[in-house]
Amino acid sequence: MSINEQSYAYGASKSSIREIAAYGAARKAQIGAESVYDFSLGNPSVPAPDAVRDSIAHALTLPATALHGYTPANGLPAARQAVSDSLNRRFGTTYSPDDLYLTCGAAASISIVLNAVCNPKDEVIVIAPYFPEYNVFITNASATCVEVMADLDTFQIDVEAVASAITTNTVAVMIDSPNNPVGSVYARSNLEALAKTLRAKSEQFGHPIYLISDEPYREIAYDVEVPWVPDLYDHTIVCYSYSKSLSLPGERIGWVLVPNTNPDHDRLIPAVAGAGRKMGFVCAPALFQRVLIDCVDEPTNIEAYARNRKALTEGLAKIGYDFIEPQGAFYLWMRALEPDANAFFEKAKALELLPVPSDSFGCKGWVRVGYCVSYETIVNSMPAWQALWDSYHA
Ligand code: PLP
Repeated sequence: MSINEQSYAYGASKSSIREIAAYGAARKAQIGAESVYDFSLGNPSVPAPDAVRDSIAHALTLPATALHGYTPANGLPAARQAVSDSLNRRFGTTYSPDDLYLTCGAAASISIVLNAVCNPKDEVIVIAPYFPEYNVFITNASATCVEVMADLDTFQIDVEAVASAITTNTVAVMIDSPNNPVGSVYARSNLEALAKTLRAKSEQFGHPIYLISDEPYREIAYDVEVPWVPDLYDHTIVCYSYSKSLSLPGERIGWVLVPNTNPDHDRLIPAVAGAGRKMGFVCAPALFQRVLIDCVDEPTNIEAYARNRKALTEGLAKIGYDFIEPQGAFYLWMRALEPDANAFFEKAKALELLPVPSDSFGCKGWVRVGYCVSYETIVNSMPAWQALWDSYHA
């Protein structure tokens, strides 16, 4: 039997987040959904805006061949136009539809970009703690994932540590702000410092180091600036999806933007198209490309997440837990009550609480509590969080 051992290994060992979510679903079936507090998956409980349904209803009136047919590989011109117009309105830019490649969500966007820029022996730096799939996507692009720990006091980028990790093989640094798993938002000054370092290192090594900005949580920020990264660093490529902002994770729709300000734009655009072609990531779901035309500027229901965040942070702080105040996304990064986050998770699990241990994100001693759940789940989970605390402080 011929098999790709790397693919086998990825398929045979599920991501630990998905394993916890699967356990949560099974446990809910056993003891009732209201008795399990599953904070594992980043699956929004907030419904998609009504405008999405209206747009789908309208699309269904189109002739079937128009509705279900192939679109261009990089997406419908009208959908890319809607996205570039929206970006230009919001960020004062001059992007064109040709700067965009529509994808099946951020996962595909990241894979496409990595395959567009990486060659064997290349290194891509990620800021730990980080979304674990980055490692899989980087490895698949035949590059090496180099983890650089964030500043563990602020969870901002430790720019000096990034500078020390850059070698002649570094092709890109990947960032994600608002951040999964920490909920931090990188400050303008932090990103400016990173940009300065990347410019200096690009010059030192004689080739550009790309900044890949993965931004599925851009719209979910609580009264804090989320700087537009291409304004700060020319060699930026942006990955985006509507999984979180419009609550459409199952529909698989997002994009890659190669800004027209990127000096390598004219070679990167065909490389992105070629990477999409190589991987068969062409022609993103046509129905949801049409939804973008109507809904690209629909506001994210940030109030629902802000309410959850308030209930969770106030409840946990009152008990005594130590956590990083979330500035964005819908995750809370909380210190485990013992050094081994997995052991802490097992004790939480026994009380039907399901956060994700931080080892999954390349960092020890914390858990991620995803609060994109219902408000009731958060409120009703508080006695269990109290019992967990008490079990350590008896
Ligand atoms: N990047 C980050 C940081 C994420 O948290 C996720 C999903 O949770 C993704 C990428 C993948 O998003 P998508 O569902 O759009 O593929």
